[in-house]
Amino acid sequence: MPDPYAWLQNSLLTIHRADWYRSVQTIQGRAGATVVLGGQEVINFASNDYLGLAGDERLIEAAVAATQEFGTGSTGSRLLSGHRELHGELEKAIASWKQTEDALVFSSGYLANIGAIAALVGKRDLILSDQYNHSSLKNGAILSGATVREYSHCEVGELKTQLLEQRQNYRRCLILTDSVFSMDGDLCPLPALLDLAEEFSCMLLVDEAHATGVMGKTGAGCVEHFGCTGRQLIQIGTLSKALGSLGGYVAGSHTLIDYLRNRAPSWIYTTGLSPADTAAALAAINIARQEPQHRMQLWHNVNYLRELLLEIPNLKLLPSASPILCFQLSSPSQALQVGKQLKQAGIFAPAIRPPTVPTSRIRISLMATHKPAHIEKLVAVLLDIN
Ligand code: PMP
Repeated sequence: MPDPYAWLQNSLLTIHRADWYRSVQTIQGRAGATVVLGGQEVINFASNDYLGLAGDERLIEAAVAATQEFGTGSTGSRLLSGHRELHGELEKAIASWKQTEDALVFSSGYLANIGAIAALVGKRDLILSDQYNHSSLKNGAILSGATVREYSHCEVGELKTQLLEQRQNYRRCLILTDSVFSMDGDLCPLPALLDLAEEFSCMLLVDEAHATGVMGKTGAGCVEHFGCTGRQLIQIGTLSKALGSLGGYVAGSHTLIDYLRNRAPSWIYTTGLSPADTAAALAAINIARQEPQHRMQLWHNVNYLRELLLEIPNLKLLPSASPILCFQLSSPSQALQVGKQLKQAGIFAPAIRPPTVPTSRIRISLMATHKPAHIEKLVAVLLDIN
């Protein structure tokens, strides 16, 4: 009989040939602006820890204290034995920051997206999704069983045409978008999307994963940044990026959250977030709200790096309005080569290739804890490679 697993090896071979093969890299020591990678100290431009909170003593102390008090695991799903007072406190803190009626904490942002989308729409419904949306939005859309149509990246005109042509053929319609696009760093046209959602009676779900703690006057995200606070929409996000912990959330109306508690399988049938992660996220929200200096320093770093990158001849910087700055390269192998050269020079900024993105690039993400010397070294190495 033929080996039913033989195709795996062939499939891996195809991935290798296309230069799409990926493997993990081990980071040693505490999260921070510099880390040890394969025994070498490198400046870390690969982290989503925008505010530098993942290594903050106060988050660590909160996680340790919660572990001492409640134990390591939450021991069950939230509807059975896994709900703690801490979860409620975290949900209140998220809702208060986002100025929504309520919030629901999931065990990851990915689970929040697939759970919410699959709960909100089904076979008789339509999803319209930005082509560059994160994998969790795309997979949530597939899982829901709804008809899925992608619109070209940020093309509101095309979205409107799709709505005019198709909205009336479906029961509900859900528009999906990242707010900060994770692999480009640009922003969705949120006010225009909200207007269209209202005009065509659609729900709008916006993924604030890379915006929470980063965008807006108080760091509440792009909804705040665009002055859309209080408008009807569904906000999703993660606790694992600027908030330095783990977990995800949905923020919105009481009715929405009550519905999701009863209908989102990836919330109902999974173990509640651990006490340590919950307490760390809660501590992070308090810091993000009470200490705007971290966000200000982050933006200072972003502007400083952008200015310097713009001076590098022939560097194809992609348009960005966030701490994610990318420059494009001609092929996956060239991106890999530049990533390797950067690493040899002590810079950790990964090559991102298809199928994750349409064009190969180096992705740089900034942190509040980067020093001017870190940024200057990155630019010096890039000039050298160039
Ligand atoms: N949405 C976006 C836009 C993301 O970039 C990510 C994480 N890469 C997620 C959702 C998933 O969040 P988490 O890591 O908490 O599962």
